[in-house]
Amino acid sequence: MEKLRTVRGVHDLLPQELYKHQQVINAGLKISDKYNYSQVETPIFEFAEVFTKPLGNSSDIVTKENYIFKDRSQDELMLRPEGTSGVVRAFLNAGLVQDIPQRFSYYGPMFRYERPQKGRLRQFKQLGVECLGLSSWMADIEVISLGHDFLEQLGIIENINVNINTLGDIASRKKYRDVLVNYLNDFQYKLSKDSLKRLSINPLRILDSKNVEDQKIIKNAPSILEYLNLESRTRFENICKGLDHLNIKYNIDKNLVRGLDYYCHTAFEFTTNELGSQGTVLAGGRYDGLSKMLGGSDIPGVGWAAGVERLALMIKSEFTNKIDVVLIGQSENFNYLLLPIMKKLIQNGIKSEIIYTGNLSKKFKRANKIKASYAIILGEEEVSKQVFKFKDLKSGIEKLINLKQAIKIMTK
Ligand code: ATP
Ligand code: MG
Repeated sequence: MEKLRTVRGVHDLLPQELYKHQQVINAGLKISDKYNYSQVETPIFEFAEVFTKPLGNSSDIVTKENYIFKDRSQDELMLRPEGTSGVVRAFLNAGLVQDIPQRFSYYGPMFRYERPQKGRLRQFKQLGVECLGLSSWMADIEVISLGHDFLEQLGIIENINVNINTLGDIASRKKYRDVLVNYLNDFQYKLSKDSLKRLSINPLRILDSKNVEDQKIIKNAPSILEYLNLESRTRFENICKGLDHLNIKYNIDKNLVRGLDYYCHTAFEFTTNELGSQGTVLAGGRYDGLSKMLGGSDIPGVGWAAGVERLALMIKSEFTNKIDVVLIGQSENFNYLLLPIMKKLIQNGIKSEIIYTGNLSKKFKRANKIKASYAIILGEEEVSKQVFKFKDLKSGIEKLINLKQAIKIMTK
């Protein structure tokens, strides 16, 4: 069996776990629809460029986490590591630039070659939303509100912190970048290897470092909030005001940056203390530069993605498979006659199973095991009278009735 196990960081989903994922996904799609976000699906693999261009050469996803391969026609392809680039590409390809704003939701598997641990897999699912074509800060508030409602619907909002920051516009970020590099230069000999590399390519990313030594240095770093120009600051204040109007509590985290190059202005993360170190369950921000990086026109966008597995670990609902009725023949000769009965039951929305084999006591054992509510038992005598024995498996009471009567009882 050794060869038949799954690849590291990739899991089978059996009914219990899949059920929780579906609860998360259904809640997400439903609330997104109410906010007028329509579901889309993009391919699981794309030309690698779709991801490498916008994510930038300094992102972890591009440098070390990607699943990249050449197919038989030597095209360089990548299993998608995230959803936004694909959705924006699809939007551009479909010529929807003429028809903005567009609001999309999606969910599906993503792939990243990471070190597998609790809440960190190599194949995992994200559910996300993208609001395209609106530069108004109202759109930022809208997507944060949608994310908040989503987690409220899942019944976990009490255990969630909303953290928000701004990366400013290009001018503000440039000014801040210089100040930050200046500050970090003094600590060069103390920074982690990764951060040292980023110092010249993408210093803002250092703020996101999980390295403990780095974090000590970052704690006292200058804050971007002090280097925002008027437009960027006003935008950020307006967003905070909007969240106040919605009674959404948030912390301003001056060191919150997003890992990808295409973000600007608003960045936010919803985190929890319940999941150990993998505590970010939903993250997003504004990505006005992305569309242009993909070769399209300049279309602003804002959105988020949530980790389905991490949210599934937080929800309480449990899978229960309750079957309404089992169909049992006195002997195997009656199995054929049970087929049309089962068909009728199913047409009436009644969950049914024919128990084909074993003696009667074995069949009832199975009925108990799968927690069936009723049993239909068919024998010689019943067939000739066009009825069957109908047994309530809880009370043990049984009576002779016909199919119509049985359906009536079970659909009551
Ligand atoms: P992290 O800091 O945890 O690595 P990230 O910044 O790489 O997160 P995003 O790219 O923003 O994550 O993805 C959004 C969400 O998707 C995350 O907040 C998380 O819930 C989930 N996610 C990301 N990577 C993984 C993974 N490898 N396994 C499971 N869930 C993940
Ligand atoms: Mg990551």
